[in-house]
Amino acid sequence: MIISSATFVKSSPTLKECPPASGPEFGFIGRSNVGKSSLINMLTGWSKLAKISGEPGKTRTINHFLINESWYLVDLPGYGYAKVPVSLREKWVNATREYILKRETLVCLFVLLDSRLRPQKSDIEFMEYLGLRQVPFARVFTKSDKLGIPDLEKSIRQYDKEMLIKWESLPATFITSVKDRTGRVEILDYIEESVNNLSKQI
Ligand code: GDP
Repeated sequence: MIISSATFVKSSPTLKECPPASGPEFGFIGRSNVGKSSLINMLTGWSKLAKISGEPGKTRTINHFLINESWYLVDLPGYGYAKVPVSLREKWVNATREYILKRETLVCLFVLLDSRLRPQKSDIEFMEYLGLRQVPFARVFTKSDKLGIPDLEKSIRQYDKEMLIKWESLPATFITSVKDRTGRVEILDYIEESVNNLSKQI
């Protein structure tokens, strides 16, 4: 998919304040510092679309971007904020949860995982949460350039092993690096295919 236009639509603190559901949406979520803003900028090719956060956990609202006048990229508040008071943290978690469970136009949630880290409890639990509620999601292993191929494969194998304890099969998986644009074509093609399949169903 070629990105011909990417425009910021709205930042919404709650689901109610989100723009009217009018087209397929693809959400991006992960723990703070996983590389979400960098990935969104790489995918859209617009270098400051999602501001790269200096402070962990800076994305606190649900951010809608309209891509190619046809689908929405949705930047969701990260989870796992170390530096934020619990009361505020809960507010964002609730907004995100509502969005994930109730947004009827959400097609797929891309869950970002840092390739360098061993399976993180919060990530595993979050994906289990999605699975139990039948929220379609895909895994994205970020910052792959920071590892050699053997370590990258090992890291993914560890995640697979951990997940296959409870899962029968694994979700779609992507490997990305903003340094060499690894994974860009694959993710955009996946989105394009999903959008095309949806239009066939209508
Ligand atoms: P966010 O908090 O999830 O939005 O993460 P950011 O996009 O702000 O990235 C956090 C840090 O990781 C920044 O210093 C980025 O430059 C760095 N980073 C993000 N993606 C990559 C990547 O693919 N490769 C490398 N080497 N660094 C990355």
